[in-house]
Amino acid sequence: PPLYRQRYETVREILKDERWCPPPATVVEFGCAELAMFPYFKQVSHITKVFMVDIDFNLVDYYSCRTAPLTCDYLTPRENPLHVEVMCGSVADCDARMQGANAVVCIELIEHLELDIVEKLEKTIFGFIEPEIAIFTTPNSDFNVLLNGMQGKFRHWDHKFEWSRREFTDWTNKVLSQYPQYRVEISGVGLPPEGSEEVGHCSQLALFVRNSDYIPVSTKDAQEIYTTCRTYDHPTK
Ligand code: SAM
Repeated sequence: PPLYRQRYETVREILKDERWCPPPATVVEFGCAELAMFPYFKQVSHITKVFMVDIDFNLVDYYSCRTAPLTCDYLTPRENPLHVEVMCGSVADCDARMQGANAVVCIELIEHLELDIVEKLEKTIFGFIEPEIAIFTTPNSDFNVLLNGMQGKFRHWDHKFEWSRREFTDWTNKVLSQYPQYRVEISGVGLPPEGSEEVGHCSQLALFVRNSDYIPVSTKDAQEIYTTCRTYDHPTK
């Protein structure tokens, strides 16, 4: 499958992983763009609530019907309920409804953010939401030597940076030093061609896992500031 689908499949498999006890029920995706990850969340039976959040109102509004139940969802309903909310909001801001989410997903988001917004993202996700797991993917700039004409350039006009594996690891270590209740597992998506293994994967992935003995701060001041574009409840047996 193409790289973007490999990313969705990898994230889905992490969410399905049996080592999460209890398995994540509420998931937030920041930078959900065209809502293409939603069908993959739907394939994870233990997910019962999904917040799809993006700063671009027109984009999520236009594509929000992609989260609506399909005819096949009525014909073969889920075992568990599934409530989805498509929202316009920034990861720089804390919305009260995100509190208590079990997993946060940011696929190819951070490289679109200025570094001061990346710092706010860290506060929102690790300081406010405090999910059991948080998954980030971002381009691996070490891989760019394999992309024709990409030397010294970014893969997309809106990228504010593209990190090497060293720079990405440095960022994760900075997060861990501020939020010691987390540990990190770094991997990647998109294998390099045979003979070029030294450049690593095309996308890099960081999975932050909250220590099981950590008790999150349950009440934090926040308001409901994101705008809800659409909500759907998917059919249940
Ligand atoms: N996750 C998408 C996927 O896998 O299909 C792709 C993400 S796209 C490359 C980056 C998205 O981040 C854009 O839709 C953009 O509007 C959104 N974005 C940019 N800044 C944001 C912010 N501060 N908070 C939330 N979303 C943001």
